Amino acid sequence: MDVFLLIVFWIGLCAAVGIYADKKGRSGAGFFFLAFMLSPIIGGLIALAASPDKAELDRRALREGMRKCPQCAEFVRADAHRCRYCGSELQVLQPKSTHSGELAVTPKERRKYDIIWWTAVALIIVIVWASFLIRTWLH
Ligand SMILES: [Zn+2]
Repeated sequence: MDVFLLIVFWIGLCAAVGIYADKKGRSGAGFFFLAFMLSPIIGGLIALAASPDKAELDRRALREGMRKCPQCAEFVRADAHRCRYCGSELQVLQPKSTHSGELAVTPKERRKYDIIWWTAVALIIVIVWASFLIRTWLH
């Protein structure tokens, strides 16, 4: 039972590392695996050291319907009239226009890749659960 709790704690820490990496625009599931294999401490340190993936964060902002302020290059809501960072007036655009262009192609591929990772993460959790259940049934 104690070993099982340790594994749950371990996976929880790995998930925290993955979420942190995901916030930085990095692959959350990839960092989950890294933490899972090398220990959450090492995975966490690598996630801390990793520089934010600015391009990926930009793509996410565009995917969420944000657009770039022409004055300060910060992301603001597509329907904003005034930039919340620099206060400059913004032209109101149709949100659709921010989704076109080359940036719209990559996230789909990235998403497919992420789904594979998360399936593997789910599999590990299921295997851990199953091994715990089998052990308790055998005793
Ligand atoms: Zn601005």
